Amino acid sequence: MERLEELKKRLKERSPELELREREPMSRYTTFRIGGPAVLMALPRNMEQVQTVVREAKALEVEPFFLGNGSNLLVADKGYSGFVVKLTGEFEEICFETAPKNGKPLLTAGGAVLLSKLSQTALHWELTGLEFAQGIPGSVGGAITMNAGAYGGEISQNLIWVCGLDRNGEEQNFRASECDFSYRKSIFSGGGFLIVEALFQLEPGDPSAIKARMDQLAVQRREKQPLEYPSAGSMFKRPPGYFAAALIDQCGLKGFSVGGAQVSEKHAGFVVNRGGATCADVLELVDQVKERVLAQTGVELEMEVKVLK
Ligand SMILES: Cc1cc2nc3c(=O)[nH]c(=O)nc-3n(C[C@H](O)[C@H](O)[C@H](O)COP(=O)(O)OP(=O)(O)OC[C@H]3O[C@@H](n4cnc5c(N)ncnc54)[C@H](O)[C@@H]3O)c2cc1C
Repeated sequence: MERLEELKKRLKERSPELELREREPMSRYTTFRIGGPAVLMALPRNMEQVQTVVREAKALEVEPFFLGNGSNLLVADKGYSGFVVKLTGEFEEICFETAPKNGKPLLTAGGAVLLSKLSQTALHWELTGLEFAQGIPGSVGGAITMNAGAYGGEISQNLIWVCGLDRNGEEQNFRASECDFSYRKSIFSGGGFLIVEALFQLEPGDPSAIKARMDQLAVQRREKQPLEYPSAGSMFKRPPGYFAAALIDQCGLKGFSVGGAQVSEKHAGFVVNRGGATCADVLELVDQVKERVLAQTGVELEMEVKVLK
């Protein structure tokens, strides 16, 4: 706590324009709508501010938590006693250009750009390759960290490089081939590296075909997923050789509830907040689901959603 007080003081001195929030309810920043307050949050708008934030945190040995759109996150009811950094301002911008070498279309996106905006921008420029991303409610930084994917596409596929800040606030670039992407994982998954920008190379496409594919995927999502309730998407990773939702359904757990948390009646892979769910409700529900699935099918489920406590 003392270190966070000192950090707040230093940030106010060194970066007077930087937006700082104290005791900010995390339920406002997560798609689950769950979570108590974060003691200190910084919302840097540009590179200078974010470098100051990372460097001052490092100087005081404070490990920041980098928040994207909070769509794969469950935050404790008592909140987070640490320091949260959320990119905003110029990190929400997208730039279109063509590669000088081969004339291929490129999109440079800030780490806080939402995937919905990224795929809509690709459509605007008549570019194909990001149709799958439209319905994923994450940011570019969160999606790269998690190697988000859907309907046969993954964010790593069109990625050329990632730019970010290491723990010392130094800028570093990684080629996509250096990011060690696998199923919902990358070298960034362990934390400690803040993704501030990414470059995607796309292909020119037929805009009506691109739009038709995006519309079709949106319909599929609405039909299959409980988008009417707050959630963090798929609660569990896909166990090798199985589908988590099918196993949970097979165990008769659709609709199973603890407090305000429920295994979705529409899609057993989702845990939804039916109103007033707490983090404790969700974690208790997850434990019981894991126990029942293990006992009845012999398969161990692992949570995909990250827990911040
Ligand atoms: C309705 C719904 C549907 C979903 N469908 C899908 C789907 O089809 N496919 C899929 O893969 N996922 C899906 N998800 C899950 C989620 O959208 C993805 O995992 C997404 O990539 C998370 O991005 P985020 O910005 O919300 O990250 P957050 O939830 O904010 O954070 C997730 C992780 O990324 C890290 N992180 C975030 N931003 C940065 C950054 N700039 N630099 C470094 N680290 C960062 C965080 O520290 C954390 O470890 C769905 C979620 C919901 C609610």
